Amino acid sequence: MKWYPVELHTHTEHSDGDFTVSGLVEAAHARGFAAVALTDHNTASGLREFYPALEREGLTGVAGIEWTTYFGHMLVLGEQGYTDWRGVQPSEIDRAIASIHQNGGIVGIAHPFALSNPVNTGYHWEFQVADWTAVDYLEVWSRDDAPRKIQSLRAFALWEQLLDRGCRITATSGRDWHREDTFAYAHTYVGVDGALTQDTILNAIRAGHVCLAAGPLLTMRGTDAQGVNWEIGDEVEAGPLEIELTIDPDTLPNDWDRSQVQLQELRLVQNGRILAVCPAQTHQHLHLSAAPGWLRADLIGTYYGRTGQHLAFTNPLFIRQRG
Ligand SMILES: [Zn+2]
Ligand SMILES: [Zn+2]
Repeated sequence: MKWYPVELHTHTEHSDGDFTVSGLVEAAHARGFAAVALTDHNTASGLREFYPALEREGLTGVAGIEWTTYFGHMLVLGEQGYTDWRGVQPSEIDRAIASIHQNGGIVGIAHPFALSNPVNTGYHWEFQVADWTAVDYLEVWSRDDAPRKIQSLRAFALWEQLLDRGCRITATSGRDWHREDTFAYAHTYVGVDGALTQDTILNAIRAGHVCLAAGPLLTMRGTDAQGVNWEIGDEVEAGPLEIELTIDPDTLPNDWDRSQVQLQELRLVQNGRILAVCPAQTHQHLHLSAAPGWLRADLIGTYYGRTGQHLAFTNPLFIRQRG
C-alpha cells in the first residue's frame, strides 16, 4: 500500500474562494499533493475547468461539493447524480445520506465544531444523524493550526466516542482551502494499492486507509500470528499482533516548518486508552495482545510552541472477538 497526500476540502471563485479552478490545481501541485478534491459551496460548476487543469498538472481529482446549510456543512465526494441540499431539515439528513450513497458518493462532516451562531451561521454541525454508521468520514482536523485548536479536541473526542459505539467512521483533515497563505496546515494521506484515481481515493476513505499528519507522516501496519499483514481500517481477530510503526519525515516537506515541529514519542491507543509508549524513531515494532475494539497510533510532540500535541495519527485497526 502506498500513501498519497490528498487535499479533500477546497473552494474556488465558483463559491467563496479566491482561487480560479486552475489556480487551485496548480497550488495543489506546487505544494506536493497527489490529488485534490473540488468542494465548492453548493455548486459543482467548477468541474468543467477542473478536469483540463488536472490533466495539465498531472494530478488526480475528486469531484465534490460542500453542502452549506443552516444546520451544518457536509462534504459530498464522488456523487454521480444529484441529491438536493435545499430544504433538508435536521431530522432528514439520514435520508439525504442514503440518497448520496445510492449515487455512489460518500459524505463527511466538515469542521463539526467550528464557530457558529452568531459568527458564522451553519458552520457548527446541528443535523440530527440517527445512524452515524452511515457517515463515511469526519473532518477531525480542520483549517490551519489544527492540532492545537479546541475545535480539534472536541472533534477528536466525538470521533473516539463514535468509534467506541462501533461506528467505523474515518478521520480526515481538511484545509478548507480558499486562498494561498503561509499558515500551518495538517494533511490527509490515503493508502492505495495500484493507481490513484477518484474511485481508489473514495474506497480508501470508506475503508479507513487514511492517516493524518501535521508534520511527518505516521503509518501503522499489523501482522497476526499467521503472518498475515493488516492495514489500518481492516478488521483483525483479537490476539497476538505485531505492530509496525513507520515515520516518514519527507512527505510534503515544504508545507510545514521543521523547526516548529519536534517529535517526542509514539503511542498505541486502544479503545481510548494508551496501551504502549515508545521513542519516536523511524521504525518501531511492538508486540501486543490485541483486545476487541479499535487500535490507533499517535505521534506526539511539540507543534508551534506547544508540547504534547498530536503531530500525526492513524485511523484504527479494528479488532473483533475471537471465534
Ligand atoms: Zn464549511
Ligand atoms: Zn469549506
